[in-house]
Amino acid sequence: MAKRDYYDVLGVPRNASDEEIKKAYRKLARRLHPDVNKEPDAEEKFKEINEAYAVLGDPERRQQYDQFGHAAFDQMGKGGFGGFEDFGGFGFDDLGDLFSEVFFGGFGGRQATRPQRGADLRVEVTIEFEEAAFGTEKDLSVTRTETCHHCHGNRAEPGTPIVTCPDCNGSGQVRTVQQTPFGRMTSTRTCGRCGGEGKTVETACTVCHGSGTVRKTSQINVQIPAGIDNGQVLRITGRGDVGYRGGPPGDLLVSVRVKPHEFFRREGRDIFCEVPISFVQAALGDEIEVQTLDGAVKMRIPEGTQSGRIFRLRNKGIQSLRGGGRGDQLVEVRVVTPQKLTKQQKDLLREFAKAGGAEVPDENKSFFKRVKDAWR
Ligand SMILES: [Zn+2]
Ligand SMILES: [Zn+2]
Repeated sequence: MAKRDYYDVLGVPRNASDEEIKKAYRKLARRLHPDVNKEPDAEEKFKEINEAYAVLGDPERRQQYDQFGHAAFDQMGKGGFGGFEDFGGFGFDDLGDLFSEVFFGGFGGRQATRPQRGADLRVEVTIEFEEAAFGTEKDLSVTRTETCHHCHGNRAEPGTPIVTCPDCNGSGQVRTVQQTPFGRMTSTRTCGRCGGEGKTVETACTVCHGSGTVRKTSQINVQIPAGIDNGQVLRITGRGDVGYRGGPPGDLLVSVRVKPHEFFRREGRDIFCEVPISFVQAALGDEIEVQTLDGAVKMRIPEGTQSGRIFRLRNKGIQSLRGGGRGDQLVEVRVVTPQKLTKQQKDLLREFAKAGGAEVPDENKSFFKRVKDAWR
């Protein structure tokens, strides 16, 4: 099934402000929340708006989406939004706040026990000019925090119970009373032992030592779309560090470096190159071979071509990331003045000049004399 445009999903124009997007999302979320709406397709729709908002509600992701469309998040099937349900339907960091506001009247304040999104990770990949033009895939080695495979993140050694935290008696908060010169001061802070959850393990997992997570280096296959340019960043949703307390994972941000090409220079969708031709070819016209990204093609040089003239080879440029076809290749011809001429060639050129009525520069005339003559 073709993915709907996220702006259409939320029913907002492409230039909608952040506030308008948030408003539109809340309105839909209130209407479609599965606890409220019992229509059969409500849950599907609810997921769809959550997905759309997770992107458009985040300025950085929105920009990526505006730039690349769904292609920016195509990797999702491999563990991004495909895993959305794993977070109980609404996982994204800011959604937690939003839901409490939407459904519980909003008693703000970040609670320590709230699920937290994992950190985003950044990696850099360097690719060849041609790979950027036609797209490629790369296996990147990424070290990230993952859920512990032994305890599945619940931090207890399998088979041992999770118990009420003895430090806070399950409240998640501990009160400390201090005697100060000004009297007794009571302060409340999040329980250090259970991190505010009110529950703790009796026997910590032997693999992650009770953290629920492990550091692991794995190979992540990244599809790099055709048309990517130097300095652009791909966001691979859900491939960053694992979230805390059931929060969603962060994203993997892949900055793409494109190696310069020895022959081509790129500007947007178009590529430029310079081709030397002889002054005879320039004067009489010729058919030359020009290198393109698709191999050599023949190009006609018309009679009387001046140095610096630019020829356009249509559709030999680079694919647009957002679709809409390829750019062009612009070929600038440079007329090369010969530096080593034989006696015979020189004589012929003097003949040529005479035939055209031009004055023949005297070889013996010094450079300075010629400059003087030019000013006369
Ligand atoms: Zn573990
Ligand atoms: Zn505790």
